[in-house]
Amino acid sequence: MKCALVGADGVVRHAERHPTDAGRGPAAVVETILSVAEGLAGKAYADGLTPTALGIVVPGVVDEARGVAVWSANVGFRDVPLRDLAAARLGLPTALGHDVRAGGLAEARLGAGRDTGHVLFVAIGTGIAAAHVVAGRAVTGAHGAAGELGHILVRPDGPVCGCGRPGCLEAVASASAVARRYAELTGTDTGTATTRRTGSASDDGSAAGPGRGRTMVTAAEVAARADAGEEVAAQVWRETVEALADGLATAQALFDVATIVLGGGLAQAGAGLFDPLRAALRDRLTFHREPRLVPAVLGDEAGCLGAALLALDQMETP
Ligand SMILES: [Zn+2]
Repeated sequence: MKCALVGADGVVRHAERHPTDAGRGPAAVVETILSVAEGLAGKAYADGLTPTALGIVVPGVVDEARGVAVWSANVGFRDVPLRDLAAARLGLPTALGHDVRAGGLAEARLGAGRDTGHVLFVAIGTGIAAAHVVAGRAVTGAHGAAGELGHILVRPDGPVCGCGRPGCLEAVASASAVARRYAELTGTDTGTATTRRTGSASDDGSAAGPGRGRTMVTAAEVAARADAGEEVAAQVWRETVEALADGLATAQALFDVATIVLGGGLAQAGAGLFDPLRAALRDRLTFHREPRLVPAVLGDEAGCLGAALLALDQMETP
């Protein structure tokens, strides 16, 4: 858990990190969230600050209007009324949001998409998820599940996704998919890594899970090997870029954004990703306007800043 005291100006005054320890079960995780939030409020008072609102963001499906964490694979949440629980415990107005949408909100308002209006933030880590931000607000969808870009179909005959369907974008082009594909082609596939059904894609994307004691080559390493001219790595990277371009072209047809901000572990591949991806996306666009394609700049603090923005926004609209 990344936690921070953030000023109304969007500046972080204090930050801390705590283990989520999801294996303890959802009730214990909720209790940790609440006590960490209490501790932060106490820290604020101790520093002579007055906390005015609390923002919490979680992965999975989040009903922001009701303040309910509907579903989360990696934390085990099922219909947890997290907003009301936190508001009751701290006595502060509380906003509950989705981690990737909050990250997108922060990148759109404070980061790489600043001042460009319509922004699509795409986080590529162990999964792929997106946030469409319009006029400083992230679109949530009717059921809190907008932005599941990782689950658009790009390869009907491709690998089976964690959601159960073959050929989803994240089954082909997430950091874990890249690592898995490389292992498969080099004969080191351990067959243990799977993509997750949904949820946070904003983690470092560096690991695809160890199998039989052997560590898979990470997506970042595949990118580096491709850059160094290794043929198999270059093939995997080409396939990845092509699939991502298919996904982004679909997104651009749907959203017509000014800027696409790529975050998550895979986006750290730099020019090795952005140069071929820009070209492949351009190839796929016909009458659609080409968006600016830029790397995220807020790093793994984006979700935390976005949570603060949600809290502050809520203060403005009582
Ligand atoms: Zn899927």
